[in-house]
Amino acid sequence: MLLGYLFLFVLGLVFGSFITALSWRIPREISFVKGRSVCPNCRNKISWYDNIPLLSYIILGGKCRNCKKQISLRYPLIEIATALGFIVIFYFANTFKGLTLQSVNDVFTLTFYLVIFLILLTIFIIDLGYQIIPDSLTFAGISVTFFYLLLTASNSIFNVVFSGFLAATFLLFVHLVTKGKGMGLGDVKFAVLGGMITGLKLMPAWLFLSFLTGAAVGIILILIGKAKMKTKIAFGPFLILGIALTLAFGNNIIRLIGLE
Ligand SMILES: [Zn+2]
Repeated sequence: MLLGYLFLFVLGLVFGSFITALSWRIPREISFVKGRSVCPNCRNKISWYDNIPLLSYIILGGKCRNCKKQISLRYPLIEIATALGFIVIFYFANTFKGLTLQSVNDVFTLTFYLVIFLILLTIFIIDLGYQIIPDSLTFAGISVTFFYLLLTASNSIFNVVFSGFLAATFLLFVHLVTKGKGMGLGDVKFAVLGGMITGLKLMPAWLFLSFLTGAAVGIILILIGKAKMKTKIAFGPFLILGIALTLAFGNNIIRLIGLE
C-alpha cells in the first residue's frame, strides 16, 4: 500500500507539471500539443532533464539554467498540490469506498476521480488568475462524468444529469437577476458539471457551501481592505472548493439539519 501511495505521489507530480503548463497555455490560447516548454524570460528551450517535476526546480535552486532568472513558484506549488490531491483522493477512496489498486474496476473508478480532480484543479487555477472558466475544460469534465456513469451502468444517470441542469438553472437565475455582476456564464455552464459530480441529493448543499465560502472570503477581503464592494471576485474557485467540502462533509450536513 505504501508503494501505491508513492506511485500516486510521483504520478501526481507528473500530471501537476502537465496542468501547470495547461493552465498557462489555455488562457493564452497556445496549443498544448505542440511546442516544447521555453523559459518565459530568455525563451531558451528547456531540456528534458531540467523539466523533471519538482526535482529540477530543487536541483536548479529555482533558477533558469540559462539566464538564472527566478522560476515562478507556481510550478512546484501546483505540482505538490496535485500530488497531495492524488494521495488524499486515494486515501478517501480506500478508507470509505474500499478501493484498492488491485482490481481493474477499482483502478478504473480511481482514474475517474483523479481525472475529474485534474480538470477541477486546472479550472480553479485559471479562474483564480484570469476570471474565466474555459468551456473546453467544463465540457471535458461533463463528458468524462457522463461516460463513466454510462460504462459503470449506473442507474442514477438520469438523476445525475437532472442535478446538473437544476444547478445550472439556479445559477442562470442568479446571473440574470444580478445582471451578470455576481455570476458569469462560465459559472452557469460549470454548474452542470458540479451538479453532476455532487448528485441530486448533495447538490443543494454544494451550492449553499459555495455561496457561504464565497461570501465569507468576500467579506474578509473587504474588511482587510483587499477588495471593495464592487471588486469582481471569481466564483469558480468557491464552486470547486464547495465540491470538495460537499463530497467530504455533505452527508453530515444533511443529517445535521435533519433532512435525512
Ligand atoms: Zn531563462
